[in-house]
Amino acid sequence: ATMPPLLSAIANAGRHGVLVKSAVAMERLGEIDAAALDKTGTLTEGTPEVVAVRPLPGSGLDEDGLLALAAAAEYPSEHPLARAVVAAAGARGLRPAVAEDFVAMPGRGVRATVEGHVVAVGRVGQHDGIGDEAAGPGAVAEGTTVLVERDGVAVGTLALADRTRHDAPAAVAALTALTGASPVLLTGDNARAAARVAADTGIDDVRAELLPEGKVEAVRELQNGGAKVLFVGDGVNDAPALAAAHAGVAMGRAGSDLALETADAVVVRDELRAIPAVVRLSRAARRLVV
Ligand code: ADP
Ligand code: MG
Repeated sequence: ATMPPLLSAIANAGRHGVLVKSAVAMERLGEIDAAALDKTGTLTEGTPEVVAVRPLPGSGLDEDGLLALAAAAEYPSEHPLARAVVAAAGARGLRPAVAEDFVAMPGRGVRATVEGHVVAVGRVGQHDGIGDEAAGPGAVAEGTTVLVERDGVAVGTLALADRTRHDAPAAVAALTALTGASPVLLTGDNARAAARVAADTGIDDVRAELLPEGKVEAVRELQNGGAKVLFVGDGVNDAPALAAAHAGVAMGRAGSDLALETADAVVVRDELRAIPAVVRLSRAARRLVV
């Protein structure tokens, strides 16, 4: 017997390293006429590295002290920035304390109790502007800067840098050709870091500093005009947007469990290029169905 077209398309998608979860999901991927992409872990490799550790004067911390404190709070988190902070501490031979009462705040950062102090690590600008000052002139231009607070007081910043995926420009170009519109970049990161990745990949429409609900709103707004939006993301913070989009695709290698569960398809081999390829497979299958 010959396989129904959508099922052979799913098998072919598998050869491209994309796990499509159902025939309905396969069909939706071919229906999209706009695309929106997350930045960290999606357009970028998602393996950032700590490039600067800056204790604030008066914090009583040196670089190692600040990094160990941040790593203790980040240890339970699966966020790529958290993994980078923990790895940097390990590389310096630091042994972070065990944190208690860990709370992840998707799109913002983490909070935990470390040796009796409440330690928060996260987005600059969430903290009444203290972080903006702290991140100020010394901050690495175009990177991601996170603020470290101890008992509500800023004690330092960490600068992290991440590489744009080598196949991101090609994937963006292919999605532009398939949808007739340049994809939109939706990120929780700051505008500078977002602008650099947009420039690297050929994206003009950038929305930065979005919380998870902000990504959902952006997807809904794009869909308001009747467009069917493909959203690609990897984080817990992307799960609501993956659910709101007509078709959601998660990056699988470093993707969070919640993103993988919510998405219609998962990129198992770490290639962004495979996404437009699967959209084409779906469209070809639909032509055979109708
Ligand atoms: P993106 O949308 O680019 O994938 P996220 O929404 O995951 O980024 O995060 C947005 C911002 O929130 C990050 O740039 C960072 O400033 C902060 N943030 C989120 N999670 C963490 C964390 N675990 N540690 C430090 N900062 C974090
Ligand atoms: Mg992400």
